[in-house]
Amino acid sequence: MPADGMPPIQNVASDEATIGPPAQAALAYLGLGWSVVPALTPKHGGCSCGRADCPSSGKHPRVAWEHLTHHPPGVEEVLGWWRRWPDANVAVVTGSVSGVAVVDVDARMDGERALAERERAHAPLTATVESRTGGGSATSGSPSPSKVWPRGSSTRGSS
Ligand SMILES: [Zn+2]
Repeated sequence: MPADGMPPIQNVASDEATIGPPAQAALAYLGLGWSVVPALTPKHGGCSCGRADCPSSGKHPRVAWEHLTHHPPGVEEVLGWWRRWPDANVAVVTGSVSGVAVVDVDARMDGERALAERERAHAPLTATVESRTGGGSATSGSPSPSKVWPRGSSTRGSS
């Protein structure tokens, strides 16, 4: 094993049968053209950063990622990350690099109501993927082009 603790690179075909769900998800997202980053791991009652009161559980990138705002990582780079941290959470770099914009509908701030009002005032969001976050909020991509967003919803990624 190299001095930095990284396991040696193995061939991709043998990895595909043994990699876990986080790595499979990272590779699937990469296949959609999304730029992915390994993040710390959310733990019951905390985060792998060790802070029981971590405000960003499972959202801290494990690697320098600024270059990934310009181009997605390669397959070998992704496999290397998830060999090193098999339970790493999968983060997606939003914006033009991935072609993804995100609307964060925060249930704690009445985001569902705020989003519904916004959709009535402008146009409904197109049907798209959603994810659940630690705060119980739903997140979806591909917002309509308006830049006016009510309190309780926020956006990530360029529009
Ligand atoms: Zn943390």
